[in-house]
Amino acid sequence: MTGQERSEEKSECVSLSPMREAVPAPPECERVCVFGTGDLGRSLGLRLLQAGYGVVFGSRRPHSSSSSLIPHGAQVLGHAAAAQSAHLIFIAVQREHYDFLVPLANQLKGKVLVDLSNNLRKNQYPEANAEYLQSLVPGAEVVKGFNTLSAWSLQNGPSDANRQVYICGESVEAKQAVMAVATKLGFSALDRGFLSVARELEDFPLQLFPQWRLPLYIATGLSAAFFFYLLIRDIIYAYVTQGEDISFRIMVSLANKVCPIVSLIMLSLCYLPGVLASFLQLYRGTKYRRFPDWLDRWMLCRKQLGLLALGFAFLHVLYTLIIPIRYYVRFKATERTVSVIRENRTTEFDTTAAWRGDSYLSLGILGFSLYVLLGITSLPSVSNVLSWREFSFIQSKLGHLTLLLCTAHTYLYGWNKFLSSSTYKWYTPPGYMLCLVIPSVVLLLKLLLITPCVDRTITRIRQGWERGADQRNPKDSQPLIT
Ligand code: NAP
Repeated sequence: MTGQERSEEKSECVSLSPMREAVPAPPECERVCVFGTGDLGRSLGLRLLQAGYGVVFGSRRPHSSSSSLIPHGAQVLGHAAAAQSAHLIFIAVQREHYDFLVPLANQLKGKVLVDLSNNLRKNQYPEANAEYLQSLVPGAEVVKGFNTLSAWSLQNGPSDANRQVYICGESVEAKQAVMAVATKLGFSALDRGFLSVARELEDFPLQLFPQWRLPLYIATGLSAAFFFYLLIRDIIYAYVTQGEDISFRIMVSLANKVCPIVSLIMLSLCYLPGVLASFLQLYRGTKYRRFPDWLDRWMLCRKQLGLLALGFAFLHVLYTLIIPIRYYVRFKATERTVSVIRENRTTEFDTTAAWRGDSYLSLGILGFSLYVLLGITSLPSVSNVLSWREFSFIQSKLGHLTLLLCTAHTYLYGWNKFLSSSTYKWYTPPGYMLCLVIPSVVLLLKLLLITPCVDRTITRIRQGWERGADQRNPKDSQPLIT
């Protein structure tokens, strides 16, 4: 018995349990074809079998392809024979090999070809893979889809992976057929339009944290800038002016200055675009005009800015908690105690210093708790169960309160050092003073926005009121969601 006969003998529709045992499927099950018995082809074939489809693989070597890797119950035929057995054909072959389809043009006429291919980089080819496929087989209906799934996610089932499938194509019927298969496999299919969108779908898997890029650049830039600034002010200054080597402070002291500074600036950068947008709306007297692109982009990455800011705040807390066990701190404390005893000195309890210290710590703790709350509620699983009002109360009202508490925490850290000339080494202000600039500006602008007369105007604008609306042509207005 030849390999082909063997696979034809198994050609009745069967489906598989997750343990890959053959389970009889309804006799009238629909057949689909998969070209290519590689990683994606086999995973897709297995999933199709589990969903109750009959699967026919089209392979260059149908006889040798019937290895143990082929899902049980699937049939393996040559491309031409496989194409004749089904109306819907998934092309799980790399784009470079698509020319094998040209001699099959007659068999593929009227068939729906699903292009699953991806590229190694953006703009690798002049046209999208799906458009190239359509040009090779003009008689077929090409649909781009399933390319955002991986072989791994297909094998693991819908409960353990991305459920969204994007498709596009020229023929509505062909897209409906593909969407029906996607739905039966447990995915939710989204029609993205015509085949011209294929390039965009092919770029999806190549994206690398697109919304995190700007916040990460900002965090890295700020960390590097403040690290070098503080290195000069704290370490190099001590070495140059007093000949003292305190470079060991780089590891903890310097890091524990950079982290809160970056955290506070990034938190204020989360709220600055919202405030700027409000002033822009006030100035324009309408909400129906687009924000500049830079402001739009900035507003879209506020969540990522906030989460990175929270990360830096966490580091600040961890560095602060280890202060008592640091060798330098223990040494200094012991030395001070010994010298007080030796000199038989007594020190007065300073109530003001105690108030200042406790307030500083307390504001820090409160600010950090709210910070964590903001981070938790920005997670989709949590924000999905909140109403819009609850979400906006936490992210806006409590968010500004967090900024206020953290800013006050930093002002208390500076306390009376703001006016002391010794603070300004080499005429430069300390890092914590610099980092107070943006949060203070944001809080001042926010204060202006919540004054009753400004608040009333901005609320009216957000409800659709336009200054001088009667004189303007309403067709010029374009609604905008803020
Ligand atoms: P693969 O493991 O390399 O398999 C490709 C299959 O194509 C081979 O097993 C072979 O099957 C067939 N093939 C190879 N050379 C051929 C030729 N010259 N002519 C005709 N058929 C040929 O690749 P894959 O990972 O399954 O990926 C297949 C396609 O899906 C690619 O376009 C890829 O971009 C896309 N994709 C893959 C994944 C993934 O997770 N792997 C995810 C999304 C999209 P036969 O030996 O049976 O002919």
